Amino acid sequence: MTTAFPSTPDVSIVVPIYNEVENLPDLVERIAHAMSAQPLSFELLAVDDGSRDGSADKLRELAATRPWLRPVFLARNYGQSSALQAGFDRVRGRYVVTLDADLQNEPDDIPLLLTRLETDPGVDMVSGWRKDRQDAELSRKLPSRIANRIISRTTGVYLHDYGCALKAYRRPIIDRIRLYGELHRFIPSLAKDVGARITEVPVRHHARTRGVSNYGIDRTFRVILDLILIVFFMRYRQRPLHAFGGLGLWLAAPGGLILTWLLVLKLLGESIGGRPLLLAGVMLVLMGVQMIAAGLIGELLMRVYHEAGGAAQFHAQEYVPANRPERAESG
Ligand code: UDP
Ligand code: MG
Repeated sequence: MTTAFPSTPDVSIVVPIYNEVENLPDLVERIAHAMSAQPLSFELLAVDDGSRDGSADKLRELAATRPWLRPVFLARNYGQSSALQAGFDRVRGRYVVTLDADLQNEPDDIPLLLTRLETDPGVDMVSGWRKDRQDAELSRKLPSRIANRIISRTTGVYLHDYGCALKAYRRPIIDRIRLYGELHRFIPSLAKDVGARITEVPVRHHARTRGVSNYGIDRTFRVILDLILIVFFMRYRQRPLHAFGGLGLWLAAPGGLILTWLLVLKLLGESIGGRPLLLAGVMLVLMGVQMIAAGLIGELLMRVYHEAGGAAQFHAQEYVPANRPERAESG
């Protein structure tokens, strides 16, 4: 479906698209314009996430005359994370850039991020920082600020602006992470986890002029669930027993103390039959034992996972030169 590309591009730009038909011509033109002002060659992976407004046809039309435009069409609407991942699965460049399709990000800022990667070998990921964000204060900026704080604190990766879609990466970082659910909001945390050295660069931001935002406030709940998951994953993935077992001990220990105390009373000849404490003690011990058992199952799962070769235990800092998909070493 895609036009053959003459050579491997330096940069792969990935854009998730859901009902953005009015923005597409401008988007494509402005990206092309921005990229023509700098030396690196590029491709644009435009991922249509099951749009219902004719975005797919518009993409086909635009791609017909632009060999660097590679559309990807998803079967239905899967959400922004999946759309991004569909693009990531197809990137060929040694740098990967992401931005939104609605032109809230400024395509002319792309070279800025790329220059940083080109000139600073100590940086693997450049994240846009919307210092002057053009969105509604109460419904968007405030929740976003709170989310930023929470995500920074809990994942230990401190950024001013997690939510800015405009970001640039060295390719190996992209190859190492997998997005699903709402994980696109946590990319910096995921990237740090696989060894990325991250920096922030202030970028421009515009109000949406065409189309409507695809999100409302309802997504907060799913985001919280994914946050719990990611924090748990980052902290305890190697040792599930530490999480579950720790909790289990905190439950079982007081339970054990209570039961010992009651046993002593019993041995001293007192009747302990009618005491609510007995019930509490037994329950705590049972819950604790179950938690520890859950931790052990977690350990077994990790072992199976590692032995099946699914998990990369480390990533090398020195990269294999461009154009060859790097494989994660496991040891
Ligand atoms: N998007 C997507 N799939 C979805 C929802 C959104 O691919 O199910 C795309 C959308 O077209 C845009 C980006 O993700 O390029 C961000 O969406 P939007 O602008 O609606 O979010 P906001 O900027 O309001 O957070
Ligand atoms: Mg937007």
